[in-house]
Amino acid sequence: MFKKILIANRGEIAVRIIRACRELDVRTVAVYSDVDRSSMHVRLADEAICIGPAQPEQSYLSVPAILTSAEITDSEAIHPGYGFLSENPQFAEACAASGIAFIGPSPENIRLGGDKAKARQVMKKRGVPVVPGSDGPLDGAASALKAAKKIGFPCIIKASMGGGGRGMKIVNSEEQVEDAYFMAQREALTGFGSSELYLEKYLQDVRHIEVQVLADTKGRIIHLGERECSIQRRHQKLIEESPSPFVSEKLRKRLGELAIKAARAVKYKNIGTVEFMVTPAEEIYFMEFNTRVQVEHPVTEIVMGMDLVKEQILLAAGQSITMKKIFRPRGAAIECRINAEDPDRFIPSPGTIEFLHQPGGPGIRVDTAAYCGWTVPSHYDSLIAKLIAFGSNRQEAIARMRRALDEFVIEGIKTTIPFHKRVIENRNFQEGRINTSFLERMNDPEKAEVKK
Ligand code: ADP
Repeated sequence: MFKKILIANRGEIAVRIIRACRELDVRTVAVYSDVDRSSMHVRLADEAICIGPAQPEQSYLSVPAILTSAEITDSEAIHPGYGFLSENPQFAEACAASGIAFIGPSPENIRLGGDKAKARQVMKKRGVPVVPGSDGPLDGAASALKAAKKIGFPCIIKASMGGGGRGMKIVNSEEQVEDAYFMAQREALTGFGSSELYLEKYLQDVRHIEVQVLADTKGRIIHLGERECSIQRRHQKLIEESPSPFVSEKLRKRLGELAIKAARAVKYKNIGTVEFMVTPAEEIYFMEFNTRVQVEHPVTEIVMGMDLVKEQILLAAGQSITMKKIFRPRGAAIECRINAEDPDRFIPSPGTIEFLHQPGGPGIRVDTAAYCGWTVPSHYDSLIAKLIAFGSNRQEAIARMRRALDEFVIEGIKTTIPFHKRVIENRNFQEGRINTSFLERMNDPEKAEVKK
């Protein structure tokens, strides 16, 4: 087992990883940029090293700065969290070359997870259903038009290396294809350093349902049930829950089998997530592989009664999944992402937190690095807290979430708390009638009814 781990991240996930390390009796090293000097993860870690200025390229994304910090602190492993270098195969390779364990899957797993067009091809070949679309990357606007005509409108043009809901363009007619193609290409190149695109059918009224998998170095793979992540804005998740109110035992079994098949197809190691789209008729389509710990991992931890980050570290240290580890779901958990954003326009609202009161009591967990007097910097992701409510069933989890959102006070900056209150009060949400267009419908009474 590792004695010391460096955490190549910041914010709530760095704090989350430090907590797991403490419980495993592992020493921790925090890295931080200039503007994060007084951040919570720096205070909580055993050691801390400044790795550069605020710009991520010169600090949290700097492979030399992070590897040097690991070497001078004698860290045996690096936990990348999510975002930043977590899905960078060159970074995982550089760790291996320096004799430092990367807490995550193999560089090959990461490379395939990041190349969505390729992952689709591999899955299709191995019998995991994918959304109808182009066979591999597109070769110019003409090939996009040809693929679109073949599968029918609407379609979606996506960046092969894309992520975070960016680099996607929906096209409704032949006339829109060319413009959308070039727009997506520009976005893909600036956002992800590759202009490669692919195209798929745009599925309407679908749910985003993902399955958590756990895989050890001996080839044993298990799944930990599903997360429903359909409440999204601009293809970005805002509320997640487990189990999904839509998923029956029969569907859960099929989702689990497909997730394990997908993981087995790529000889997956460590923890990962297989994302699917599920239609109202319960057709399941593979969407992508996420090769890191997800923001929404706490909802799985709660219903499964386990600690995913600790499991991730133990798997990276070579521990196997034993037969003793049979996880059974209990109750329901919901997570609201509290972002430092204007809740109506969703634009960032950085600044100093002047007053903070966190909710508590039965069934409430708050994962955050925020404290009163802390200045939320403008350079990074706007997620500042994850509010998680759990109960013996979904109804109780919702009641606790409503109560906790009322208790949560953050002054000095704007947050998404008022937005979450509106969703939690919504009848369709309460009755589990949700899909990826839920937010558009919530604001439009004409479209308010969502079929189950
Ligand atoms: P990212 O890696 O950027 O998160 P994903 O491929 O996971 O991108 O897609 C993000 C979201 O975009 C999905 O959860 C879904 O809401 C929407 N989406 C993506 N592809 C499709 C599609 N073919 N049809 C309908 N919605 C889609």
